[in-house]
Amino acid sequence: MAEELGLELNDVRRALFILYENDLATYRRVRDEDSGWLTYLWTFHYDNIPENLQEEMYRLLDALSEREEYERTHEFYLCEVCSLRFEFGEAMDFGFECPECGSPLDAMENDRLREAMSQRIGELREELNVDVTG
Ligand SMILES: [Zn+2]
Repeated sequence: MAEELGLELNDVRRALFILYENDLATYRRVRDEDSGWLTYLWTFHYDNIPENLQEEMYRLLDALSEREEYERTHEFYLCEVCSLRFEFGEAMDFGFECPECGSPLDAMENDRLREAMSQRIGELREELNVDVTG
């Protein structure tokens, strides 16, 4: 199977176990009586794939929407030295100085992050046929 797909054996194994963890495949271990080697016999549950994938996409859409709202409704301050980000309230509590290094905290734009999130949300909604106004 590895040769057929042109993949490294370890990659194939990893992919199979990811499918297994997501209920998309099961396996049975069989010992070859002549060689004593263990062979994994895999069964794929193709019926589960579309539903699980869709569930996963809905979960991603929810998480992204929540995160996008959080980004949109909060102000952030950044310590450029430590790359630490604080919410406005936290930054105010620290007197707009980084609690780690004492550098001044600067207001941080998150427009690009929000834009990237909005775009991904739009794509997901389109793929899932979710009403954009919903
Ligand atoms: Zn700092």
